[in-house]
Amino acid sequence: MNMSEELAKQQKTRVNKLQKRLRRETGRAIEDFNMIEDGDKVMVCLSGGKDSFAMLDILMNLQRSAPISFELVAVNMDQKQPGFPEHVLPEYLSKLEVPFHIIERDTYSVVKELVPEGKTTCALCSRLRRGTLYGFAEEIGATKIALGHHRDDILETFFLNMFYGGKLKSMPPKLVSDDGRNMVIRPLAYAREKDIAAYAELREFPIIPCNLCGSQDGLQRQVIKEMLQDWDKHHPGRIETMFRSLRHVVPSHLVDTELFDFKSLERGYPHGITDQNSVANSQAASPVPEMIDILSL
Ligand code: SF4
Repeated sequence: MNMSEELAKQQKTRVNKLQKRLRRETGRAIEDFNMIEDGDKVMVCLSGGKDSFAMLDILMNLQRSAPISFELVAVNMDQKQPGFPEHVLPEYLSKLEVPFHIIERDTYSVVKELVPEGKTTCALCSRLRRGTLYGFAEEIGATKIALGHHRDDILETFFLNMFYGGKLKSMPPKLVSDDGRNMVIRPLAYAREKDIAAYAELREFPIIPCNLCGSQDGLQRQVIKEMLQDWDKHHPGRIETMFRSLRHVVPSHLVDTELFDFKSLERGYPHGITDQNSVANSQAASPVPEMIDILSL
């Protein structure tokens, strides 16, 4: 085997390994949150970034072997940012076996007109995009709208809300839109951004840069991102542990009186659960019971 054959073989092995991991994590998230059901029509939102390319790729891959039958429809919104390479996505999507639509809406001009010079335009831009996509999903009869946010986005949002919003909340893997008409899913909720980035690079997805509009996502998100990257570098495993904590919330050990009825606590029952069956169930369901006891000391 010559040098280039050896390199090609190594590359293939890396792609397969990453694909396997992303498939496993996406499949697990879909199952844990019952994201996709038999007969669903899933509108896969493609921005042209690495995350949405990877999401479409993995969903198509899972669709081929899934025990249920569901449809995928790829949708991109051309927001008319100057320099947006409008041929890239149609060219890429035409080669795949997936129906697709490109929605053309000049939200760029609207945003430029309404947002004062120098202010970040992302909030309004995203709201306009979301509104158009939700409406389009209804038009085509999509039962689910898939977005490409991943584990790191979820953690960043969690810290953003905590640091700047005074709320313990993040980006849910599955949610119903405010008007109740759309169901949004995030199949990459368990996937690591660095795996997605490596996969996108190896698969050579035709990524469209996301700074065409000249705006930048909030500085605060960038600060959080760097904080998490720094932790990941200096404390390997911390990101995984933090993400795990989002999946194991103990309301009785927080300070939210809306979430937990502290006022009705009675002695004799651990964690305020007065029904003995519930005690048994809660202990059986708790994945880290020892931790609760340690924290209670
Ligand atoms: S970076 Fe540009 S296109 Fe992306 S959300 Fe912000 S304003 Fe919109």
